[in-house]
Amino acid sequence: MLKFPGWRIEPKARTLFALVAVGCVGFAVAIIALMYSSLAVVTNKANQIYETRSIEYVQGAILTSLTRMTARVEDNTVWDDAVAHIYTDRQDDNWFYATWGAVAQDGRDYDGIYILDEKFAVVTGYVSGQKVDPAAVSLGSGLDALINVHRDNLQTGKTAVSGMTRSSRGIAIAGIGLIRQTDGTLSGKGSTKRYLVMTRHLSAGMLKELSDAFRIDEIRLTDRSGSTKPYLQLEDASGLELARLSWTPRQPGAEAAEAARSGIQTIAWLIGGLILLMFAVAGYSLMKFAQGEQVARTFAFTDNLSGLPNRRALFDQLRRVDKKRGAAHKAVVFIDLDGFKDVNDIYGHATGDKLIMIVAAALKEFLPNHGALARMGGDEFALLLGGKDADARAQIFAEKSLDFLTKPIRIGERTVQIGASIGIASGDLKAVRSQELFRRADLAMYHSKSTGKARITWYNDELDAQRLRKQAIETGIRDGLKRGEFDVVYQPIIDARSGRMASVEALVRWPGRPDGELFPDQFISIAESSGLIQALGEFVLRRACKDLSLVPELQLSVNISPAQFRDVEFESKVAAILAEIGFPADRLELEVTEGYLIENPERAIAAVSALKALGVSMALDDFGTGYSSIGYLRRYDFDTIKIDKSLASQVDRDPQAAALVAGTVNIANALGLAVTAEGVETEDHVRLLRLAGCQYLQGYYFSRPKPLAEVLGNAATEKTAARA
Ligand code: C2E
Ligand code: CA
Ligand code: CA
Repeated sequence: MLKFPGWRIEPKARTLFALVAVGCVGFAVAIIALMYSSLAVVTNKANQIYETRSIEYVQGAILTSLTRMTARVEDNTVWDDAVAHIYTDRQDDNWFYATWGAVAQDGRDYDGIYILDEKFAVVTGYVSGQKVDPAAVSLGSGLDALINVHRDNLQTGKTAVSGMTRSSRGIAIAGIGLIRQTDGTLSGKGSTKRYLVMTRHLSAGMLKELSDAFRIDEIRLTDRSGSTKPYLQLEDASGLELARLSWTPRQPGAEAAEAARSGIQTIAWLIGGLILLMFAVAGYSLMKFAQGEQVARTFAFTDNLSGLPNRRALFDQLRRVDKKRGAAHKAVVFIDLDGFKDVNDIYGHATGDKLIMIVAAALKEFLPNHGALARMGGDEFALLLGGKDADARAQIFAEKSLDFLTKPIRIGERTVQIGASIGIASGDLKAVRSQELFRRADLAMYHSKSTGKARITWYNDELDAQRLRKQAIETGIRDGLKRGEFDVVYQPIIDARSGRMASVEALVRWPGRPDGELFPDQFISIAESSGLIQALGEFVLRRACKDLSLVPELQLSVNISPAQFRDVEFESKVAAILAEIGFPADRLELEVTEGYLIENPERAIAAVSALKALGVSMALDDFGTGYSSIGYLRRYDFDTIKIDKSLASQVDRDPQAAALVAGTVNIANALGLAVTAEGVETEDHVRLLRLAGCQYLQGYYFSRPKPLAEVLGNAATEKTAARA
């Protein structure tokens, strides 16, 4: 069976699902990105802080060294013993060496020590314990600048000072102070002055000590071009750059980041996991929702008796088919069971339900590939088929279905006989919408039903033309009744024995129809199916009663259509018309055909007995064409049987027809009913029917239906065959 495409997750749900997914992932990415970007900011900031801090440290270390140098020079210059040994004409080299020169050897506190005279010229000195040639010593411009800046303080012996300088041996911290007595003065030395200079070079060893003390990696001396960040500029007292100290930045931020990274990764995994969970939960509930919707859809689109898709499902499918316009050729088969209502009425709804299930199961068996079968409701089924050979397959399906449905069907203990009226329509969806195909199949089915049932009708344009003509006639009847286009004519009913006109049958005519006169066979059934027969029937009854009220010696027969019987007020309407005109009920006979008696026996019995209670006679019309059951005659208490002209007019040719007529008369006599033979056209008919025992005769032989005046005028000159 064709899967109706509605039973999938709705696109709506799918979009929602995608949105949730994108939302979740987006959220996760945002959070992780935020974490990483803030980590980067923190890293940078930490690195920056470290850089500034490390510069401050190195600067502090240099300043400390300078301060220490000043203090050391101060310690060694304010000293009476030194004044005694240095301010002599003959310098005491031994003392100088023992006191200072030897110390300079280890280079721990200072690596060079010099004595300068009042002009700041080197007098003597030791470098790493070796006496130097004063002329060859160069202590660098840094020392000159230091002396220049602090000349006054130095000369008065107020303080010692230190600064940076570049000697011939490299960058050094140099301290200088006036050698003076403990009380700070120099007495008796005249203008002679001796200064003590101490140097300490920034050796690899010293830098290593610095690095270790301040936990700064690889502090090294560079020149301007060789420096890397961070660095500290080393200047002399005049502000001139001498060199730079550079070191390897530690980047604690990066370390922190490295340390934090695993934490962040854990968090990222956590968030990822959480989002996956959220996603799973959202997905699950969406799926549940979609499933719920699907169940609801399945429920709404399924006929629960047959399990087939229902009308809604088929129309939904048709809408999709129309939208797609894919496989253009489609065929629709419409099946309507005949006689299903009888099964329901006679055996009950449980049996009717079982029958529907059996029929649905059978139709499923015949279902062609890719066909969509649906129960349209009640006893209607429809099949939608696509593809090039759809027509042939539709025909085969219809034939198989009809074959099955017209054979007796077993329902448990019972066997029922139903049938089916089938309509098929096919066409190209580019030209015809599927809904229209459906309507056409329905129309074709109705044609099958109205032309004898148990058949297959293919839609053609003529069916629509017929429908339009029918509609036009319907409107014509409605308007014609208002405009007085209808008329009533009368056909005599002759007493077979006396040959006298006993009664007349009123027959409707439509002479005033603008498009030309139509005869009852062409419009009565349309009036019946449209409900207009009520008004038309009332018109005929009223007119006939009026006309006949002036001819008291004649009885009146009026035709009643089964559709009029359906109106529960029919009996009271008849009574009202009789009263209104003052027409005696016992002069009126109503003719009904069998159809409605079978259709709705209870109502028919009630109507017939109510009418008979009024005093009206009842005739069973067209006897011999339908079921013609004796049972009906007994049940309904008719007064007259009218043998149909198709039977009566055969008595002279067909011995079987003659026998049937004779039999009917016998039964009627036994039941106390009168018999009227219709369609009497020849003298032979008259003779044979009278011989058979028919009490009344009616037919062209006596008179065609005519206006009452003509019928009455002819009465004098009418053929009195009976007397002959
Ligand atoms: P019906 O009730 O069987 O009426 C007799 C029909 O047979 C009439 O046709 C009449 O003209 C025709 N007929 C009479 N004698 C002969 C004959 O010797 N040979 C042939 N071949 N036909 C004969 P009409 O008037 O065309 O009516 C046809 C049917 O239309 C009626 O058949 C009746 O069923 C229905 N009908 C007519 N008038 C009314 C009406 O006022 N109300 C209802 N409900 N039905 C009507
Ligand atoms: Ca009749
Ligand atoms: Ca008749």
